[in-house]
Amino acid sequence: MLTRTLENNKDELAILGFGCMRFPTKGNSIDEPRAIAMIRSAIDRGMNYFDTAYFYHGGKSESLLGEALSGGYREKVKVATKLPPFMVSKLDGAKKIFNTQCTKLKTDYIDYYLLHMLTDVSTFERMKTIGVMDWMEQLKKEGKIKNIGFSYHGGKSDFEQIVAAYPWDFCQIQYNYLDENNQAGKSGLLLAGSLGIPVIVMEPLRGGKLVNNLPKEVIQEFKSHDSKRTPAEWALRWIWNHPQVKVILSGMSDEAQLNENIRIASEAEANSLSEEELKVFDRVKAVMLEKTKIPCTACGYCMPCPVGVDIPGCFSAYNDKYLLGDKQNKMKYMQTQGILSKKPAYASLCVECGKCEKHCPQNIAVRKELKTVKKEMEAFWFKPVVFIVRKMFRVK
Ligand code: SF4
Ligand code: SF4
Repeated sequence: MLTRTLENNKDELAILGFGCMRFPTKGNSIDEPRAIAMIRSAIDRGMNYFDTAYFYHGGKSESLLGEALSGGYREKVKVATKLPPFMVSKLDGAKKIFNTQCTKLKTDYIDYYLLHMLTDVSTFERMKTIGVMDWMEQLKKEGKIKNIGFSYHGGKSDFEQIVAAYPWDFCQIQYNYLDENNQAGKSGLLLAGSLGIPVIVMEPLRGGKLVNNLPKEVIQEFKSHDSKRTPAEWALRWIWNHPQVKVILSGMSDEAQLNENIRIASEAEANSLSEEELKVFDRVKAVMLEKTKIPCTACGYCMPCPVGVDIPGCFSAYNDKYLLGDKQNKMKYMQTQGILSKKPAYASLCVECGKCEKHCPQNIAVRKELKTVKKEMEAFWFKPVVFIVRKMFRVK
């Protein structure tokens, strides 16, 4: 297992981290003996970074991980878990969640503690205002948190502001060859790198869609260069090729995935892809772009929109529905476009001023396409659901 060292804290982390949101299941529950065996086998083979969250597996992921790490495994690994800001309106609420997490994880310290799923600056500001950042710093002084970070799912510009607004110990972003220019994207990765903030990558295979839902032309393109490499291997190697990426989190649901990923993680050095291999990705991305409904490259030249529409984000969510058959696209659209944010970025906010269109190198009729996105992604239940969820989590 290859490792990369974080420059700021000198932690030597295995480049493959275990994402604890897709454990093997039996019926509707985690298949506990199997998941525990997989975790322990992963540690025995060199993995040392385990990423969970308060609500993964309906709140059971942390308990399962705590159980798996008892009996001498806890000391061998770094545990990452997350505070869900959308469930925190007062500091006492955050404290309660943290104590519950430590109990479930059977530990009295968390190695990597994240604000979960930030999508905008205002949520980070709210956490500061209610005292969460000061409290986390106090926990760090007491040794109960070793590193403070955040995971991110919003647009580029808010990422740039958040990453520069605090001395983060690390951050976690969605990154893969299809998302090179989405969300934080490559520019966000490089920015974090230049600020000395280590980057952990999530969604390397887009929840398996870069393996199971690829167009046949893409599979053919990969195969024609190397018939033995699977699409998963291509995708992971592309990410590890970036030296700024320290760990890739993979949510592995069976032993075969674990075995394959561990094998790749013992070979995939940074900057190891050849010119020819990088050209394969250029061709793959060209095929995928050709198959997308709206040919948005997420270059961001149309941004910012004066009323806050995340134009590339809206197009990306809509395109995924058709390109990757993403069945959860409407939920993801709600999430990434700001259901829990002070400043939502939905297509329906567009006031048709037209400012964006003259900047688009793809000549996309942004106003017209946003109407299509609105029609398909904001179903009749969209507004009532948004209203109820925002009320529940007291988002103003
Ligand atoms: S046309 Fe719509 S999306 Fe474009 S800048 Fe104006 S309000 Fe924003
Ligand atoms: S300028 Fe055009 S291609 Fe670039 S992000 Fe905006 S809509 Fe997409």
